Amino acid sequence: MLEPVSQTRPDDVQKPKPAVFLDRDGTIIRDAGYLRRVEDMDIYPFAAEAIRLINQSGRLVVVVTNQSGVARALWTKKPSDHTHGPPKGVDRSGARIDRFYYCPHYPDALVPEYRQKCECRKRTPGWFSPRQET
Ligand SMILES: [Zn+2]
Repeated sequence: MLEPVSQTRPDDVQKPKPAVFLDRDGTIIRDAGYLRRVEDMDIYPFAAEAIRLINQSGRLVVVVTNQSGVARALWTKKPSDHTHGPPKGVDRSGARIDRFYYCPHYPDALVPEYRQKCECRKRTPGWFSPRQET
């Protein structure tokens, strides 16, 4: 199961809304492989404005990303404060990411907890199925 970072607000659960799904790496931030430092997260100059426009359209912004660096033991911190989490600084222009999900799994993971062929990895048939948030 994808691991959610943002919390579900009770009013969001009650009312289904259209959503736009975005990848993080190569879409919102420059794809630099496995980021080692948050400071190296390079947000595209157009990303915040694009997200803000989606917000204004009434659609939810949902970011879904594969981050197997967790399984490869490259990162150990929680995603909200590390390189595999939401892009930092997008909200400076008033842009809002409503949900951020990442898949931390990898079949040959060093971290046993994440060693699996999961269904939440993008490009698998299951990644788009409804998520249970924890
Ligand atoms: Zn997964």
